[in-house]
Amino acid sequence: MSAKKIAIANQKGGVGKTTTAINVGIGLAREGKKVLLVDFDTQGSMTKALGIKADALRHTICTVMDKALEGDSPEQLKCYMEEFVKLHQEEGVDFIPSNSILAGMENTLLDERPEVRNYILKGILDIYLEEYDFILIDCQPSLGILTLNAFCASDRAIVPVQAQFLALEGFEELIKTVRRVRKKLNPTIDIEGVLLTMTQKNTNMTRQISESLRDKYGRVLNIYQASIPYTVRLGECAQKGRSIYSHDRKSPAADAYMDIVREVMAYE
Ligand code: ADP
Ligand code: MG
Repeated sequence: MSAKKIAIANQKGGVGKTTTAINVGIGLAREGKKVLLVDFDTQGSMTKALGIKADALRHTICTVMDKALEGDSPEQLKCYMEEFVKLHQEEGVDFIPSNSILAGMENTLLDERPEVRNYILKGILDIYLEEYDFILIDCQPSLGILTLNAFCASDRAIVPVQAQFLALEGFEELIKTVRRVRKKLNPTIDIEGVLLTMTQKNTNMTRQISESLRDKYGRVLNIYQASIPYTVRLGECAQKGRSIYSHDRKSPAADAYMDIVREVMAYE
């Protein structure tokens, strides 16, 4: 087993990254895969949406990174994570939580040498390569040093795009960043797919964004056939700390996310 590591990224906030990380992650677990979710956002939204009071946590991805920077060995880091950091969600995924303390890590990393600062997360996650089938990293809404760490730690990226006005603003920048990382920092990273989220049937907005995405990028990027419909059910999931599958299995969003799960499993 060698885990596939996938960053869920877009520097825009509110486009469905966290919702996608959780529902693709739990969807993979439902298909029998061993899944580790990593909250790598300074807001700890994924941690909260998995039912944990993020700001009360003393041990998070940030404290693991501190120890890695202090020179702890992989064995020491693993012991620490197993005992204090890693959590389990009842629907079958493990996760590494985050909270606002991670914000301070940006400056800490910027003080490090480039050979070190971009690869701290990779060093931590590679400890789990043989234990999981998939490791999904929920990135924060920026293209700063933390997201670069996520790209350096990943084999692929999934980019959720919200079917909304200005959805593609900044998209070019994101693609360029991934290309630059591939050239200079991590030759294996690639964009696996672009996922349209919060779509509304028969609206001009959804049609326009979908068309311009396919027109402009359809030849160079994989735009998933399935898209995630807008539904208040997904917002409710976050409040309850659950996935769409246990909250409302009949929701069209549950089927859509399972379509994406199958594409993720088939991707090679
Ligand atoms: P990001 O991680 O990119 O900031 P989130 O996944 O947190 O985005 O989603 C932003 C908000 O939109 C959250 O309140 C979430 O519950 C809601 N949301 C996400 N996907 C959908 C959807 N398909 N339909 C309706 N609301 C959604
Ligand atoms: Mg988020």
